[in-house]
Amino acid sequence: MNFLITGAAGFLGSALANQLALECHHVRGLDDLSTGDPQALVPDVHFTRGDVSDRPKLWTLLQDVDCVYHLAARVAVPESIIYPRDYNAVNVGGTVALMEAMRDVGVRRVVFISSGAVYGDNQEQPLKESARPNPSSPYAVSKLAAEYYVRTIGGLWGIETVSLRVFNAYGPGQHLPPSHPPVVMNMLRQTLRGGTVVIHGDGMQTRDYVFVDDVVRAMIAAATAPHLDNLVINVGFGVETSVKELLAVVLSIINSKVEIVYNTRTEAGVSRMRADLTLAAEKLGYIPRIPLAEGLRLTLERDARFRDLYKNKR
Ligand code: NAD
Repeated sequence: MNFLITGAAGFLGSALANQLALECHHVRGLDDLSTGDPQALVPDVHFTRGDVSDRPKLWTLLQDVDCVYHLAARVAVPESIIYPRDYNAVNVGGTVALMEAMRDVGVRRVVFISSGAVYGDNQEQPLKESARPNPSSPYAVSKLAAEYYVRTIGGLWGIETVSLRVFNAYGPGQHLPPSHPPVVMNMLRQTLRGGTVVIHGDGMQTRDYVFVDDVVRAMIAAATAPHLDNLVINVGFGVETSVKELLAVVLSIINSKVEIVYNTRTEAGVSRMRADLTLAAEKLGYIPRIPLAEGLRLTLERDARFRDLYKNKR
């Protein structure tokens, strides 16, 4: 099949692109490299640098494409609170621009990578797709708005759509910005270095951590599985883990002495998150395979930023 992946040089986009190329599909990747790295891509992926709202570029890249994966987005929750207009422009505006270009060229299917963040603080755990969205950041609002656009426009224009609400993905290659690093990667880095591990809030907040390879399998299934049109489907591991528990698992893998500091001045964010995966199993045949401890070990072994330090601290 012929695919276009937006956000292809990012963490999830590059893992997906490389796996599809390995399976002998024709893969084009688009990314503006605002955070992505094209060196993460295998040579078989045809990479173009560009903005997801660049319609002439999209018209060219969409020729003969069977399915689009739309991952290009701004993804940092704290940053979105400072720059909501930028998040709206890229995450919502970029999605609408892509859908218009798909309509113009006649592409029939899009897999939109949405987020578990759209549920926000929610009593209905585990979170079923029918739970009422309750976004608590501009990032989450932008993902929800984009999801509604994809589904509504898709329905009106005869484009098949499926939206995957991915929970907290982690794994090798995940971007580690100094100002707002993702929790798993940051905790691995801090623990490897020794010294202080900072936990925001009381550490009791839970997330559903899912390893990148599991997410990639769900994304690949979504391109071809039948009867998905207009559906929203959760992708997680289906287990709730508190930040304190995450640290305990990390310390069971990395031999390091750390001092834990609770930073109660910062918000812990949403208090609980766990995905109900019934629909993913039924529609995508998706059963997550990689438990947290194994996923963390794989991350430490595969990620060049961690590998050498980890060798000395097993
Ligand atoms: P990422 O930042 O590594 O990937 C996003 C990519 O989009 C980057 O390579 C970036 O350069 C690119 N990009 C940003 N703005 C662009 C623009 N205007 N035009 C073209 N490219 C642009 O983040 P990720 O974690 O790989 O996230 C990928 C997608 O998955 C995002 O849509 C995100 O909302 C979604 N998601 C991620 C997670 C997670 O835990 N990683 C969870 C839920 C949803």
